[in-house]
Amino acid sequence: MLDYSFSEEQQMYRQQVRRFAREEVLPRRQEWDRNRTYPWELVQRFVALGLADPSMDHVTRGIMVEEVAYADFNTAFPVLRASLPYALDQFPGVPDNIRQPLIDGLSQGTKLTGLCFTEPEAGSDMANFRTFATREQETWLINGSKNSISWCNSDAYVVTCKTSHDKSVWSLTNILIPADSPGVSPPHVWDDVGTRGTPRGMVNFDNVRVPLNHAVGAEGRGYELVADLFDTNRSFIGLWCIGPAQASVDEACEHAKQRHSLGKTISQYQGVSFALAEAQTLLEAARLLCYKTLWMADNGQRHSVEGAMCKWWVPDITFDIVHRCLLIHGHYGYTRDLPFEQRMRDIMGWQIGDGTAEVSKLIIARNMMGKDFTG
Ligand SMILES: Cc1cc2nc3c(=O)[nH]c(=O)nc-3n(C[C@H](O)[C@H](O)[C@H](O)COP(=O)(O)OP(=O)(O)OC[C@H]3O[C@@H](n4cnc5c(N)ncnc54)[C@H](O)[C@@H]3O)c2cc1C
Repeated sequence: MLDYSFSEEQQMYRQQVRRFAREEVLPRRQEWDRNRTYPWELVQRFVALGLADPSMDHVTRGIMVEEVAYADFNTAFPVLRASLPYALDQFPGVPDNIRQPLIDGLSQGTKLTGLCFTEPEAGSDMANFRTFATREQETWLINGSKNSISWCNSDAYVVTCKTSHDKSVWSLTNILIPADSPGVSPPHVWDDVGTRGTPRGMVNFDNVRVPLNHAVGAEGRGYELVADLFDTNRSFIGLWCIGPAQASVDEACEHAKQRHSLGKTISQYQGVSFALAEAQTLLEAARLLCYKTLWMADNGQRHSVEGAMCKWWVPDITFDIVHRCLLIHGHYGYTRDLPFEQRMRDIMGWQIGDGTAEVSKLIIARNMMGKDFTG
């Protein structure tokens, strides 16, 4: 029997997060976009109120992301990180004296780690990564560059390195590198269009040495950990985009009820009201897909295909929905005083980050057509 309801606890949690996000986060939305920062103290208070409890299930974590992103896209990322959703953020295999201070810092909102997969020469094509870690006695010797790292100003990096000359993704191992290790360059930060509260940039690793026990997970199994992270993270990204799109639809409905044209409110014209009805329908379908995927993750079911569906589809439709809502606001919508342009810039980043639409469709098509698919 299907049950589409959230539990009573989840509904109460949604109300709590909504209150915090709309009262404290929303009024400061522009500040973080314009100054390229976000308020550590606000994230730490969110944590102190117990709202980012690492023991929460993924569906509840999805509620957190959706509600915070409704108020501000930039704040949704650090609260997601503070709630430790990723296996990689537990640094499996790394000794406790190294991993525990990082886990504590992440979950208290005082530390950040950058997850470094993408390289200057290869993003989607992980088998062709070049960053290499060579075993030398008791250490890994690491050389290479990682690009497009969110939180490139982190305290530590988890770096996906080749550890053998095998040409497949089974040559990859994730290695934890403290940012203050000799040979780690200061980050080069890109002047991004959106998600400007999260510095994204390039870091070089030049003869960096860390102990062998800094390998996160098993040697040669780095791709699995990254792929697992992506599967679940892609539904968080969906909800992260749904938040600002829903806010845009709500605002456009209010505007349509107030604005008059040719003797009527514009809400009375089907050209406006049907566009909003269509947007709300798409958002409802997208929400169901994302929460279903998180429910599958909570229940230990494989969800690579569903994660890929969230990833290609939801950023695309939410970008279009926000654009439509901007147009419904007429020339006012085109100003930076209203939030629509920022929301479009923010969502656009996640049409690319964590795998492009094309790469997501490859995952779905491969699942549909098996070995007959050669893309
Ligand atoms: C906001 C943001 C945050 C990010 N955060 C991180 C992070 O924290 N850590 C990290 O490691 N990376 C991060 N990235 C990088 C991101 O994951 C990569 O940009 C992405 O995987 C695509 O890689 P690429 O940019 O090298 O594009 P490429 O792989 O060069 O692709 C270029 C174009 O070709 C298309 N393409 C490639 N291969 C195929 C194919 N086989 N079939 C059809 N089309 C194809 C792609 O869809 C794309 O349109 C982030 C990116 C953004 C925008």
